[in-house]
Parts: sequence; structure tokens; C-alpha cells
Amino acid sequence: MYAIKIEIKLNNKERTKLAQHAGYSRFVYNYALGLYNQIDHKEYKFNTSKKIDTIKKLFTNYTKKEKEYQWCNKLSSRVYQNAFRALKNAFSRFFKGLGSYPRFKRKKNSCSFTVDSSNGKVLLPAGKSIKIPTLGTFRLKEALKHSYISQTFTVSKIADKWFVSFAVEAEKIPPLSHEITKPIGIDLGGKTFATLSDGSTIESPMPYRKAKTKLANFQYHNRHQQLGNRKQGIKTSNNARKSLKKLAKKHAKVANVRADFLQKTTTKLCQKYGHLRIENLNIKGMMANHKLAAAVGDLGAYEFKRQLLYKAEFFATKVDVIDQWYPSSKGCSNCGAIKTDLTLSDRIFRCNECGLTIDRDLNASVRLEKAPNEVVVDRVGYARINACGQ
Ligand SMILES: [Zn+2]
Repeated sequence: MYAIKIEIKLNNKERTKLAQHAGYSRFVYNYALGLYNQIDHKEYKFNTSKKIDTIKKLFTNYTKKEKEYQWCNKLSSRVYQNAFRALKNAFSRFFKGLGSYPRFKRKKNSCSFTVDSSNGKVLLPAGKSIKIPTLGTFRLKEALKHSYISQTFTVSKIADKWFVSFAVEAEKIPPLSHEITKPIGIDLGGKTFATLSDGSTIESPMPYRKAKTKLANFQYHNRHQQLGNRKQGIKTSNNARKSLKKLAKKHAKVANVRADFLQKTTTKLCQKYGHLRIENLNIKGMMANHKLAAAVGDLGAYEFKRQLLYKAEFFATKVDVIDQWYPSSKGCSNCGAIKTDLTLSDRIFRCNECGLTIDRDLNASVRLEKAPNEVVVDRVGYARINACGQ
């Protein structure tokens, strides 16, 4: 079994609907846990599963029918079935010593719910939408590349985004063949968007660069436009309003080109390569690395890494994340000597020790490819390979 997780595209109505279901799930879970905690366990000696079943009966036959809980009946009943199941699992993990005693769920750190199809497994055809049992059809951010069969679906909110995840059987997963299986380092930023240690490069999309230049020009030419200020009693001029509208449109266009580029690039990389190695990205590391800082501001290295890691699991591509303090740019990819006099403007890396002369970005990518295992801070995509028995 393996889980697939994809972002759902929602309108406001759908967003409200999902939030209501998450609230329902939380309510039922807390209701059951609250009653469970009140049970006199010395008196009532059944096992946990039976105790929870009794609470469930109480909920179904009495609580759910009370007037103040009528709202429950407007939502998918699979939510509460699964909330009870989740509580059973939480207790089972606790008694096996695998988890802590179940705690009440709070809105701020628990916004998810599970539904399933009560008539067995359902077919999910490839494409840009998904039919979630008892909830309806939703649009997906990224198309399902293959058809899948699954029964249980978990919907969760992370930051402001909603995702659906479901388990599929290993046989239904796309083939695990990659054109290139040896480790390949990816250096982000620099002259191109990315440089790979097999010598290939990924260019930023032309329309993006064009749109960005246009955007900058537009902002410059409209720099004197009078914006409104209510306190000072200044109204926004009509021209300013028009140009603001145009500006928003141009911003959206740039964002679209970028999103499309990142989606396609990360998919292609995971389809082609079986093992990738990238530099870790975090605020500290990026501040220390001017080149990355620029790349992040520009084409979203951060988003690139997020998508790459998430797709890696799906395509069974192993990804090693290398410590951001590992000197990828300053070290020689041939002899390992550290070059202290390398400046940001040096496009060519010349090693003072072994004489290697190589493109700066390519050197960094080879350094990442060869980085020792001690500097690997995270590994992704390995579980999937185990799940498939390879
Ligand atoms: Zn060297």
C-alpha cells in the first residue's frame, strides 16, 4: 500500500463544506474521547474497542438525533464512522506503546477528516478531478496520471491549502523505471534555474523573464501614480485605479508562468531520475547563500524543493537533502579542496590544488552528487521503494 496526496482546487463554497466536515470529525472524536475518559474502567471491564463501540451507539441512537445536533445529519455520515475508527486506532497505538494517550483535537492543529466508500473500493480515473465518496467531485491542482482504486480518503488542510490523500495498492503505482538511476546533484540558482551533475541545465522559462521585465518597466512608468489615502482625504485617481488593475493582472500572469514551470520541471525530473540530491533550503541557509536568495526571490527554489520532495514519493525517486552548510560551491568536485577565494562573480571554478577548471554551477552540482552521507539531513522517496518490495 502507498498513499498519494494531491492538492484540491476549491471555490469558497467547497472550502466551507470541507471545513465543516473537519469540524464534524473533530467534534465526534472529542465527544467520544470525553465519554471514554469518564468511564469507570474498574467497573466496566470490556476492551477498548467494545467501549468505543458503545459510545458510538450512544452517539448514533441518541446524540445525533437531538435537536441541537441536527447539523450532523447534513454532513457525510462516513466522517463520524471514521472519527470513531481513528480514536480506536489512537488507543491501540497507545496500548502498544507506539503513541501517547489520545488527546483532544483542537481546531488550530487538526483540520482533517476521513471518509470512505461503504460499498467497497472505487475507481479513480486519471484526470484533473476526483470523486470523493459521499462528498462529490473536486478539481485537482495536478492531474492524476493513472487510474487508481481506493476506498478510504483523508482530506486535510495545511496552511491554507486542502489536500486529499488515499492509499493505493502497490501494483497500481506507475512503473518504477527511471532512465537514470545513479545519484545526480542539482544546484539551484546561478546562471540557469538549475544545473545537474550530469551536465544538463534547466533554464528559467522565457515568457517568465519577459513578463518579469515588462512588470518591472510597468511599475517604473507608473511610479508617480497617486494612490488614495483616506486619512488625508485623497481619492485614488482613475488612472491609478486602472494601472493597479493592470498591475494585478501582470502579477498574476507572472505567477502562473512560474507555477506551471515548477510543476512541469519537478515532474520531469522525478520521471527521468531515480536518485537526486539537492541542497537544503531554509531561511538561515539562504541568508548565507546570496545565490540561493536570488533564486528564491525569482523562481521559487523553495516551492521547487517542496514539489520535488512530494513528487519523489509518487515516482519512487530517492531524494537526499544535503545540509545547507556543506560547502557545495566552494569545494572542488575533483579533490575536495576548499577554495576560500571564490567570489560570487566567478563563473568558472579553478582549483588551486588539482587544477580542475569547471563551470561554477556544474562544480557545485557534482559536489552535491558526491556529498558524504554524514551531511544528508533528510531522505525522501525511500519508503515507496520498500512498499513495492524493491
Ligand atoms: Zn581540486
